[in-house]
Amino acid sequence: MPHIVVIGAGITGVATAYALLQQGFNVTVLERQRYAAMETSFANGGQLSASNAEVWNHWSTVLKGIRWMATRNAPLLMNPRPSWHKYSWLAEFVSGIARYRDNTIETTRLAIAARDHMFTIAKDEGIEFDHVRRGILHIYWDKPGFDHATRVNRLLVEGGLDRRPVTPSELADIEPTLHGNFYGGFYTPSDSTGDIHKYTTGLAKACVRYGGKFIYDADVVGFVRRNGQWTTRYLAAPSDGSTEASISSDGIVICAGSGSRKFAAMLGDRVNVYPVKGYSITVHLDDEVSQAAAPWVSLLDDKAKIVTSRLGANRFRVAGTTEFNGLNRDIRHDRVKPLVQWTRSLFPQVSTDRVVPWAGLRPMMPNMMPRFGAGRSNGIFYNTGHGHLGWTLSAATSALLAETIAKRMLIERNMAA
Ligand SMILES: Cc1cc2nc3c(=O)[nH]c(=O)nc-3n(C[C@H](O)[C@H](O)[C@H](O)COP(=O)(O)OP(=O)(O)OC[C@H]3O[C@@H](n4cnc5c(N)ncnc54)[C@H](O)[C@@H]3O)c2cc1C
Repeated sequence: MPHIVVIGAGITGVATAYALLQQGFNVTVLERQRYAAMETSFANGGQLSASNAEVWNHWSTVLKGIRWMATRNAPLLMNPRPSWHKYSWLAEFVSGIARYRDNTIETTRLAIAARDHMFTIAKDEGIEFDHVRRGILHIYWDKPGFDHATRVNRLLVEGGLDRRPVTPSELADIEPTLHGNFYGGFYTPSDSTGDIHKYTTGLAKACVRYGGKFIYDADVVGFVRRNGQWTTRYLAAPSDGSTEASISSDGIVICAGSGSRKFAAMLGDRVNVYPVKGYSITVHLDDEVSQAAAPWVSLLDDKAKIVTSRLGANRFRVAGTTEFNGLNRDIRHDRVKPLVQWTRSLFPQVSTDRVVPWAGLRPMMPNMMPRFGAGRSNGIFYNTGHGHLGWTLSAATSALLAETIAKRMLIERNMAA
């Protein structure tokens, strides 16, 4: 069978490798880090959330964004320094408003399809990832927020989602630990949460069992096409003084997160991923009072743009914020603080004396739709740009891409025969 090189061992790269192995391909994954899932797939919000499928390309987002730029501690931060990539991306984001409705419905469908794949894989491969199936509750503090959510809900329901409005008293029944004077909520019982890092590393082990190969500490630097074969050049073990190495294959799949744009440009494609930074805190629930006072139902506070997940008895993940600051990965105290304060305000009995902060870069396309499919050159494919929903969508985009690659490679083989 043909040999495919996958670049990147985040959730999309590992899920792609797994789907290709299931189709019978020989697969090698190249990853610049020493382990899988060390970049954006390390400590995200943990939600498997079809209910968060609304794309952000909406005039209300643009207006909120402009207001937030002048507000301290707002969920959005923009480095105003001129950058062609950032401003051209934002211009494309605005032009994506025309497809807001269609893209929201399409994302909902993909997210629902992804669930079935992922749950089956986790069961078949025995992957333990602190999976909690208690639904996701969206909470709203005022009528305008709730009214917008009601309009969004029509699109999510059209996409096939089981999601319903709930009153403040129903909200308290669904998640009794919540403190706040809420206007209302929306509840999606079929959504769930888990630890993306545990899932991705578990899936990487499954890939190895099926014969997949992982080369870590491999920083990919370029590609050459010769006699129908691709050669991928990389710096091996860059931390120990790098040596250049290469690997040949029949095809390449780019799953390099925020690095995908650079690789696409090398390969003659335009994949306009921007690194949209976000933060999370993992609150360690070391005492019984904190364990009892932290929620099990996953939450999305639409006003604060914060999501939560309960990762087993002892950990509570809180994630959010949107920062346009290029490839900057610094963990800023003033961006972490609102997440801690939010936790204290909604869950006053939860101790925040042991909180681990993290920052990651969402690889986001301006139209908010993942890019999966073939590139211009023979044998080049992409599965990237999943933005705020990479964990939710990757099982579906990987399965669909692996089918595309299988069809293409078989056609090419038959034509060559
Ligand atoms: C704060 C935050 C909260 C989030 N919450 C959620 C959520 O609740 N639910 C959800 O579905 N999604 C969420 N997301 C989004 C989700 O985490 C991402 O979409 C997903 O992790 C992206 O996976 P990826 O594989 O595309 O990228 P990554 O995980 O970044 O993987 C890309 C890999 O490519 C490798 N790579 C890059 N360049 C090279 C190179 N030159 N050579 C070799 N390897 C290379 C990198 O080292 C990396 O390991 C959140 C993101 C953030 C930041």
